[in-house]
Amino acid sequence: MNAHQTHLLLHWYEANQRSLPWRHTSDPYHIWISEIMCQQTRVEAVKGYYARFLAALPTVEALAQVEDNKLLKLWEGLGYYSRARNLKKAAQMVMQEYDGQLPKTPEELRKLPGIGCYTAGAIASIAFGVAVPAVDGNVLRVLARLQADYADITLEKTKQNFAARLQPTIPSSKPGVFNQALMELGALVCLPNGAPLCPKCPLQESCLARQHALIAELPVKTAKKPRRLERKQLLILRHEDKLALRKRPDTGLLAGLWELPEVFELPVDYVHSSEDAGAAVHIFTHIEWHMTARKVVLKKTIALDNLVWVTQQQLAQDYALPSAFAGFREMMF
Ligand code: SF4
Repeated sequence: MNAHQTHLLLHWYEANQRSLPWRHTSDPYHIWISEIMCQQTRVEAVKGYYARFLAALPTVEALAQVEDNKLLKLWEGLGYYSRARNLKKAAQMVMQEYDGQLPKTPEELRKLPGIGCYTAGAIASIAFGVAVPAVDGNVLRVLARLQADYADITLEKTKQNFAARLQPTIPSSKPGVFNQALMELGALVCLPNGAPLCPKCPLQESCLARQHALIAELPVKTAKKPRRLERKQLLILRHEDKLALRKRPDTGLLAGLWELPEVFELPVDYVHSSEDAGAAVHIFTHIEWHMTARKVVLKKTIALDNLVWVTQQQLAQDYALPSAFAGFREMMF
């Protein structure tokens, strides 16, 4: 990025940026939460979670002390739950080692769980005005096209390379605005899927991909491995006004969250009725769950170590059920 491009970009951002709740605050805690929530999640989906999370946990101290069940309930449906667990661990570190104040440098921020190179750069530049890059997928795409760079943007060394080249061009008077402007251009104009909106782009005159008709080829990304497919047969197990849930293991996918139990043998004399409850598919980053379910109403509860029986109200308030099971919600109660 040269000075002229930076000028055009900032001018465009001033006129076109979206009004997002976390753009109206300078509170580092709020900016941190928004950055973590926005990782791999659409901005529109984040808005409601962001408001609820900060209403329930308004300070780093409150986050450090929150019970896991409450934390996961606040995160329910947002996915990538390790983000929530890392937030709590990081908040505990901030309380113990930084007197409750987020550290200001990217180097110190990166020592906190869940904060990598991009997030450290985003928090340091937006919340503390440190002139460091924040290179996310949007920025990589814009820069690869702008400079007609064929480096594979899925590689860590490419990210580091782009960040190193961007570093000296960041305006020291407004690094946070500059980083957000570049990300916003990627999100709104230099689009990830489908054709970019080049006639609306403030950098169209100097974009090498546009000049040389290379847009369809850039950025270069190595193909991802195909997802592993897992089939699951689930039980929507009911007795009177209660539903049976099972807690997932404390490590691995959806760790510590609640789920519908998988099919197991039920004593015939317990079963009052049984019906097909449909099918659903849920796609994670590396795995696809192909699920079918049966709804079984029992005459009496079955006592098994790892099952809990909850009412609809308890489920709504206290039990975090991942969105993977959303397709069966209507059949639960
Ligand atoms: Fe992206 Fe088109 Fe702008 Fe180039 S001109 S940066 S391809 S939107």
